[in-house]
Amino acid sequence: MENLPSRKKGRLIIVAYRLPFKIVRDEQGTSLFQNSGGLVSAVLSLAQGSQNTSYDFEEKIQWVGYTDNTREELEGVKLENENFKAHPVFIDQQLNDNYYEGFCNDLIWPLFHYFPSLAKFNKEYFEAYQEANLLFYEAMKDIIQPDDVIWVHDYQLMMLPDLIRQTFPTNKIGFFFHIPFPSYEIFRLLPTIWRDAIIDGILGADVVGFHTNDFVEYFLKAVRMVIGQGNRMHYVTLNNRIVKVDAFPISIDYKKFNDAYDHPEVVQYRENMRKELKEKIIFSVDRLDYSKGLLNRLNGFERFLEQHKDWHERVSFVMMVVPSRDQIEQYQQMKSDIDQTVGRINAKYGKINWQPILYQYRSMPFEELTGMYSASDVALITPVRDGMNLVCKEYVATRRDRVGVLILSEMAGAAAELGEALIINPTDSQDIADAILKALEMPTEEQTKRMEAMQQRLREYDVFAWTNDFFTQMHMIEQEHDRLRLDYLTDKDIKDIGQKYQHAKNRIFFFDYDGTLVPIVRDPHDAIVTDEVKSLIAELAQRDTVVVISGRDQMFLEKVLGDLPIHLVAEHGALIKMKEKGEWVLNPAYQDGWKESIRSILDLYVKRCPGAFVEEKQTSLAWHYRTAEDQEYALRRAQELAWQLKNFIQPDMSLQIIEGNMVIEVKKTAFNKGTSATSFLDGQSYDFILAMGDDTTDEDMFEALPDTAYTVKVGDALSMAKKHIKNQYAVMELLNTFKEK
Ligand code: UDP
Repeated sequence: MENLPSRKKGRLIIVAYRLPFKIVRDEQGTSLFQNSGGLVSAVLSLAQGSQNTSYDFEEKIQWVGYTDNTREELEGVKLENENFKAHPVFIDQQLNDNYYEGFCNDLIWPLFHYFPSLAKFNKEYFEAYQEANLLFYEAMKDIIQPDDVIWVHDYQLMMLPDLIRQTFPTNKIGFFFHIPFPSYEIFRLLPTIWRDAIIDGILGADVVGFHTNDFVEYFLKAVRMVIGQGNRMHYVTLNNRIVKVDAFPISIDYKKFNDAYDHPEVVQYRENMRKELKEKIIFSVDRLDYSKGLLNRLNGFERFLEQHKDWHERVSFVMMVVPSRDQIEQYQQMKSDIDQTVGRINAKYGKINWQPILYQYRSMPFEELTGMYSASDVALITPVRDGMNLVCKEYVATRRDRVGVLILSEMAGAAAELGEALIINPTDSQDIADAILKALEMPTEEQTKRMEAMQQRLREYDVFAWTNDFFTQMHMIEQEHDRLRLDYLTDKDIKDIGQKYQHAKNRIFFFDYDGTLVPIVRDPHDAIVTDEVKSLIAELAQRDTVVVISGRDQMFLEKVLGDLPIHLVAEHGALIKMKEKGEWVLNPAYQDGWKESIRSILDLYVKRCPGAFVEEKQTSLAWHYRTAEDQEYALRRAQELAWQLKNFIQPDMSLQIIEGNMVIEVKKTAFNKGTSATSFLDGQSYDFILAMGDDTTDEDMFEALPDTAYTVKVGDALSMAKKHIKNQYAVMELLNTFKEK
């Protein structure tokens, strides 16, 4: 990335369930056979430095992954090829059965693919999952060096990012999720402790990637519901870090598939198929899995045959199913259902010289696969749920001749990128049958038009662009962290500020109230400023301009500070009392007439949450749950409320939701503490500006003030302020330094 300032050094450590090569031991010794899967080729491009990412990785790529070899077998064996150095994780058979076969493939896989009835919620599975994630951590903890970047992959390792984070707080950690992340209604089926552990585990990463925006939204909702944390433009703010959650649709090595078209073996295979099969060829290939919609596809094809006799004997449907997990009973059952359905359809419609479905249960070498892709008139891809689906992308990439029609399920992540395909709903047999007819009859020009549009997109965002994109985000979050770094005021800083203060002629102070001038207490009514603080402020106010900017209402501020010669700002800038005028004035930017619709939603949540109440301020509405009977329950309701408000509020309403300490507040966006603070600077020439605050709403103030201002955040939450100060007592110490000596 040319516009990024510096390229980072350090090693790349990949962690995935599997190692990038198969380890085979025979009489000749040990051989490593590198896999050719998507992730391996994506990572390879980084290893070979063929990409211009923001990182410039040193050394070979380190890869941590499970091996079914034993520790003894690999004793003294060099697990390294020209690209990767492997760090094997040994998991004994029984543990792996409960971890991988159990938690991963008997629970997370079916549940996250929307098959809750197939999900098995065994306690032993969860324990094994925790234990196995710990084994991955143990296998890598001694190799991590300070500048290393760690990239963790997929649903087998959801707890690993946090395990690493706890001991390596400054290493960059990425996490990519390769399967769908489900809607909250599905996710919440997991027992509470499990879902907490999953969310906490994943949030150990700096960047969390999913295939589509929908999965990002679902994950962010789960974060909100589980840990009560919202997000701002896909950034989740944790106590002292931020996590970026975003969509990075994985892709394929476009060139490899496109080039395959002219490979002599592929050409030969294509010609043979076209000669041997019928006039039109429909093709599909997938692993054996209930998520792939294999039976739905057969039903759709049967419907097509039933309705279009004129196509009989003119079309061959080649359905390849790649063996997978067929030791598991569910998979065996599914396979037998497929066998029977294919048999039944072929028996019903077939002729001596025509078998409608040519079904095979085996894997295909690359040349045969691309030969079939390029020989087919139609690719029929109908998953009922798929994180991405690479087969459809490979089909498009292979079509150098720019013809062929892709029929694609709307449930595949890839559908978001391949809108020119014939998009179908896989549960609707008629929809599939209609799409098959349309595809078979589609004029060549239209095929080419659609194919070219899809090809251009895939060419531009191939698997290398995908890795590049991910690492650019990793680099950007690093810069963001630098910007938000915690930097505490030192004694020297305080001395410097004191000197600057003494030499300045025209000085202004901005103070937040709760958490800054008074400590946070359980009952907000008890947060009364002490006489000591008041006399300090009064003394400052004799020489300088002092503004207290608060979210509190005018009555409260009047009660606690009304007698001081200072400016007061209530309700985050909506109401202002200038000290000279002595009366409260409504901000002219405020427009009324919005409360009714919001109030009814808040009232509903009061009914749903015993003890919560609505406070109606002059310019805002607040839903308080500090007083709720059951705090845990109230927190869940608060998350729901915030979610509902977020969906209800349209941009033209100019309303903002503020999630405060045990309160959710809705106010107009026309003003905030930032616009309010800067209005005091208009037409003035202050040569000393100091602002202090502890709350998220004070961030607007820190951001809006000029660069010369001293901005101080009370507490250790991430902040735009230049400096931090530990707590409210330290605020007192700082204020004391401005006292007339
Ligand atoms: N594939 C394979 N062996 C075969 C046929 C296909 O490994 O015999 C590959 C295919 O080229 C594609 C991948 O398997 O890259 C399937 O990826 P997809 O995302 O479509 O589905 P998944 O199996 O990952 O759910």
